[in-house]
Amino acid sequence: MFQNSWSAEDQQALDKIAKKLDIDLEANDLAGAEATFTSIEVAASKIGRAVTRQVIEDLAIKQTELLDQPQPCPDCQRLCEVRGRTRSLTTGGGTADINEAVCHCSECRRDFFPSTCSVTASPTWL
Ligand SMILES: [Zn+2]
Repeated sequence: MFQNSWSAEDQQALDKIAKKLDIDLEANDLAGAEATFTSIEVAASKIGRAVTRQVIEDLAIKQTELLDQPQPCPDCQRLCEVRGRTRSLTTGGGTADINEAVCHCSECRRDFFPSTCSVTASPTWL
């Protein structure tokens, strides 16, 4: 099923990612007589972790970009400017550098981390 949907363009993208990670998918220990399941699995895992890390970083940036207006302080409701900061986060794919939104309320002298998700009450139907 998955193999049928894997296009030539997909393979080219994979080859580019592998090359960027110094993995030669045509190397003898991966595609030749010296290949073992372990050597193939190590290479595939390295590529998977790199893709996972990049997807997490990209989506975190998009979430931060949604917060383009000052956000209310959770304590005093004063509107505070949103700044970005980078934080290293350990994920299943390794360490990802996440760009997260942070605000500082000078009135309360505290930082807070606004969310793009608003909490809304669900209607209750009786
Ligand atoms: Zn405040």
